[in-house]
Amino acid sequence: LISRLPNVGTTIFTVMSALASEKNAVNLGQGFPDFACDPQLVDAVTHAMQQGLNQYPPMAGVPVLREAVATKLKALYARDYSAASEITITAGATQAILTSILAVVHPGDEVIVLEPCYDSYVPNIELAGGVVVRVPLKPGTFRPDFERIAAALTPRTRAILINSPHNPSGTTWTAQEMQQLEALLAPTDVLLISDEVYEHMVFDGQVHQSAARFAGLAERAFVISSFGKTYHVTGWKVGYVAAPAALMAEFRKVHQFNVFTVNTPVQYALAHYMADPAPYLGLSDFYQQKRDLFRAGLANTRFKLLPCEGTYFQSVETSAINDLPEADFCKWLTSEVGVAAIPLSAFYGDGFDQRVVRFCFAKKTETLELALEKLQAIG
Ligand code: PMP
Ligand code: GLN
Repeated sequence: LISRLPNVGTTIFTVMSALASEKNAVNLGQGFPDFACDPQLVDAVTHAMQQGLNQYPPMAGVPVLREAVATKLKALYARDYSAASEITITAGATQAILTSILAVVHPGDEVIVLEPCYDSYVPNIELAGGVVVRVPLKPGTFRPDFERIAAALTPRTRAILINSPHNPSGTTWTAQEMQQLEALLAPTDVLLISDEVYEHMVFDGQVHQSAARFAGLAERAFVISSFGKTYHVTGWKVGYVAAPAALMAEFRKVHQFNVFTVNTPVQYALAHYMADPAPYLGLSDFYQQKRDLFRAGLANTRFKLLPCEGTYFQSVETSAINDLPEADFCKWLTSEVGVAAIPLSAFYGDGFDQRVVRFCFAKKTETLELALEKLQAIG
């Protein structure tokens, strides 16, 4: 058998979570909260099930949830999306990204990714038969490098994938950077896949610059988010994609034969819960407190803190602690110190190693304090 994905092994998130559990380490590796979601959300799922809402929903998702997403996109980003023809509920952002790519990328088309990037993008492009074009974010700052993006555009470029707030670096694109991308793509037919799963986690008074805000981007964009991140339910695997009707029609052709649709009671529960914007509007403050607690705890250690403008990830430089390459450092940290982390090299095709590792701070205060105690003990 010739593998479709010869370079793919088990994801780093699975590997590090397994090691954390084997070593009984505090798991700040894989990104997921260790605290409960709002019990009202669980009640809403139970209620939907008890109401008998347990059969297939419409292919694109239950209308009330699509309406709730449209209302949110209008309120936050001032863009009208039709719930009927421009929003689809997906099995997490993961499926939304894969299905967007399968819907528009033809074999041989070039797709630009900005490295470091989330680990599913490259295999997704390869499954579509696309050619991956890797453009680095600026070294050290992880900001978009428009000269290099411009240089990577060719007549064969089908799409570019962006991710702000950015996993793993925690940078967020400014309005000016989004406008630069808009200007760069204006003379082209290049599509945009905008992974915005951390849209509600932006710190220090910023606002999230969704592709939906910019007319010249929205007209060519799949805008993708994840309820798992926003409502502390990563295991529910429900997300959404918004795109202009013509793009969405192509998306749905693939979606209907990919998953057809996603689970009914959770969709009704999310629709009910979304009627109150307070939970997502309060999420940035909630995570900013955790970020600040975690950063303060590392301030007097030899970990060098990188900026964290958004997401629930804090990256740190490790070279003042020892000489280990990132992956070995993470194994050492998990086994010997008792805290799991993720090497940034896992987000690069060539395993580029800059001695930076990522911690997830979506954890209870007591978990963060326990991890900090262990990290501070390194001296
Ligand atoms: N994109 C990024 C940048 C992510 O960090 C994640 C979650 N790890 C996903 C997509 C996938 O989201 P979901 O769990 O909703 O599939
Ligand atoms: N998005 C999560 C992270 O970056 C991991 C999700 C997964 O395990 N695939 O840590």
